[in-house]
This record gives sequence, C-alpha cells and structure tokens, in this order.
Amino acid sequence: MLRDDELVNVSDVNQFLYCPRRYYYISYFDTIEMNYFLRDGQIKHRNQSRRGGWVREFYVQSERLGIHGKIDVLEVKKIKDEGYSFVPIERKRASSYYENDEIQLATYCMLLEEYLDEPVGMGYIYLFGTNERYAITITERHRQKVLDTITAIQNIKLDAIPDFAENLNKCKKCSVIQYCMPFETKILEKIR
Ligand code: SF4
Repeated sequence: MLRDDELVNVSDVNQFLYCPRRYYYISYFDTIEMNYFLRDGQIKHRNQSRRGGWVREFYVQSERLGIHGKIDVLEVKKIKDEGYSFVPIERKRASSYYENDEIQLATYCMLLEEYLDEPVGMGYIYLFGTNERYAITITERHRQKVLDTITAIQNIKLDAIPDFAENLNKCKKCSVIQYCMPFETKILEKIR
C-alpha cells in the first residue's frame, strides 16, 4: 500500500509538464516563492462562487494510478430519473489555457472515474481572465499523456536535475527563477 507522500499530486503533473526543472526545484528544495502570479491565483481560488451544485476541493486518490489530489470544483447535476452527473472543473487565473492544463483536468477525470466506477469523459477549464469556461473532451491521447507523465515524475532523481525549459518565456512567470537562474546560466555558458 502506497503512503500519501508516495503518490504523485495531480498539481505536480501540471508543474512537471510546464517545466520538469521547476517540478524538481519545488520537490527537492522547497524553494517555492510567493510571486505575484502565484499570489493572484491563490486569491482568485479563495474568492469562490457560492452557487449551489458545486463541491469544492474534492479529494480523490488512486493507488493503481499512483496519484492523488483535490478536484478544484466538482459540478454536480441532477439528471432526470438517472441520478447525478459529476464534472470536474479546473480554474486558472489566466486568459488562456495550455496542454498541461488539459492534462491536469484529464488526470482528475481519471481519478474521478475510478472513484465513481463510471466513465468521466469531459471536464471544464474555467479562466478567471476571461470569465469563460471551456469544455474539454478527454481523449486517449490525454490519458496516455497522464500515464507517461506520472511515470516520468516517479523516475525523477535528486542527482539528475532536468534541463531548462525549451521556451524561456515560461521562466518570466516561474516562481523558482531565482534558484534556477536560466538567463544568468545562458550568459555564463556563452562566456565559457
Ligand atoms: S525558471 Fe524556467 S527553466 Fe527554470 S524552472 Fe522555471 S520555467 Fe523551468
């Protein structure tokens, strides 16, 4: 039986896909800083809507998948004569979403379907930046990416730091930039 600290957290799936090096720093060095982007995101998560039919921070875990996490918002709808439908919603502070956000949502769908013992084939990404939500159909590609990412995270080792992000634009919003120092390193590499 896996302990909680041996399970991969779903939010780490997103962190890892954003940049494996970021995941490494956060996991092993506990260096996460409260930068503007994180702080803003947390405040928006706290200012939650009070509409009914929603369950917030619904905890789910799966030893089989090796993951656990809290579904940000679970939308519960009564279906006439058929019980209820459950749809996970992942909220983001941004005005657009990326593949890593879709994969995070897919991870929640996979956890939820194991919990409910029924298929969960879609979820929503809600963007605070535009006040819109997008329906995401969970495909086999999403599911495979979830499994591959969990395996990659489980194989990360303390003595093997991942490379910098290919897209250094990501670094501008990254909370561990002071520890990672991608731009300084690039300059030093040129001097050597
Ligand atoms: S600063 Fe850039 S390369 Fe470093 S962890 Fe963050 S995103 Fe990755």
